[in-house]
Amino acid sequence: MSVDWGSGTELGEFRAQVRAFVAGHAPGRAARAGVRSPENAEELAELRRWIAALFEAGYFGADWPVEFGGDAGHDPRRDVVVAEEIARARAPMQLGGNALAASALIRFGSDEQQARLLPAIRSCDDLWCQLFSEPDAGSDLGGMRTRAVADGDDYVVTGQKVWTTNGHWADRGYLLARTDPDAPKHKGITAFAIDMDTPGIDVRPLRELTGTSDFNEVFLDGVRIPAAAVIGRPGQGWIVANASLAEERNGVSAAVVDLQLAWEDLHALAQKIEIDGRPALEQADVRQRFGALRAEIRACALLGQSSFTRWRAGRERVIDAPAGKLWFSELNLRLNEFAVDLLGARGILTEGDTDAVDSGRWQDAYLYARAYTIAGGSSEIMRNLIAERALGLPR
Ligand SMILES: Cc1cc2nc3c(=O)[nH]c(=O)nc-3n(C[C@H](O)[C@H](O)[C@H](O)COP(=O)(O)OP(=O)(O)OC[C@H]3O[C@@H](n4cnc5c(N)ncnc54)[C@H](O)[C@@H]3O)c2cc1C
Repeated sequence: MSVDWGSGTELGEFRAQVRAFVAGHAPGRAARAGVRSPENAEELAELRRWIAALFEAGYFGADWPVEFGGDAGHDPRRDVVVAEEIARARAPMQLGGNALAASALIRFGSDEQQARLLPAIRSCDDLWCQLFSEPDAGSDLGGMRTRAVADGDDYVVTGQKVWTTNGHWADRGYLLARTDPDAPKHKGITAFAIDMDTPGIDVRPLRELTGTSDFNEVFLDGVRIPAAAVIGRPGQGWIVANASLAEERNGVSAAVVDLQLAWEDLHALAQKIEIDGRPALEQADVRQRFGALRAEIRACALLGQSSFTRWRAGRERVIDAPAGKLWFSELNLRLNEFAVDLLGARGILTEGDTDAVDSGRWQDAYLYARAYTIAGGSSEIMRNLIAERALGLPR
């Protein structure tokens, strides 16, 4: 049931090349669901090597401007193929912080920033974190309170960030801070590229529902950074941030590959596990749920494909990105709820528990599934965007 972007000969050949490359280079560790942090320095080094190899081979960064190592004749469908093949191998994707920082620097960075920072993103010598969310500013970033006060040739930053993925491993941070407290709330914000080892930055890992620590709280106490760290112009942070957030286009099709694989694995499992002494798949209600999920995955794939096609034709609709994100994340949650249901009492067993089915993979994916409905804009915010901007409903 795979939706094969590029079943044409040239893209088909490209897919085969990427698949072979991924098989030869992807880190060998067992993948957990979702976007997870390396657990130790060895995993981190492996991740850096993997990302650098993807850039080196031209599979990442081909869409960058040529002067920064991109490919002039780049076909964006290739990015989709790469993302799908990485998802198929359950290997790590490009790091979200690195992708965001690259996009901001390419569009708004100074010549000096571009020359210094972009090569280190390609080689993955630099791992970036995204310092946007705060305890009282997530869905509405305009509420952020972290302050950056100009002081000579520097800014002095004080405040708190939270949910900072990979903050504990990051070399650099893509920071948003308020530089003009008197400006309207979205106007007084500035974007910065900061070094995470600057004195005054305290990163404290948070333990999540899944039992792992993938994100952090970051406290900034009188952190002195040079004015040259501003990305774009002072007060332009909202524009810089929105432009970089809008860049991610391959998420849905890669996510669909994830869903398809999970569906197939679960389907195989349902032939083995028993309910009332018979294979679960022989139960009518189980078969119906499998059928419904398969149809919804197909619809999600087509939604991703049509959005991408519209984007390439310059006819993107405001509904496209929020609808894809909402559909995938809610469907992923339903699929994993079904998985733990199907496993009955064993559904609560997790990694390391005796008798855990598939090493606890389904419980981990079920617990992680909530994160997808929040990160990058919660389901409620996606529904608001669809209702207000696409359907023209009142606020
Ligand atoms: C796995 C994960 C990784 C993340 N990584 C990062 C990261 O690296 N860097 C970073 O900066 N942030 C990160 N985030 C934070 C993420 O961007 C925020 O969690 C998200 O924007 C929601 O903000 P919030 O958590 O403050 O919730 P809030 O905005 O406080 O929302 C709380 C609840 O209220 C609802 N709500 C809020 N406003 C409205 C409204 N107007 N209408 C209806 N309902 C509303 C929300 O849907 C939600 O259910 C990450 C989050 C997750 C889950």
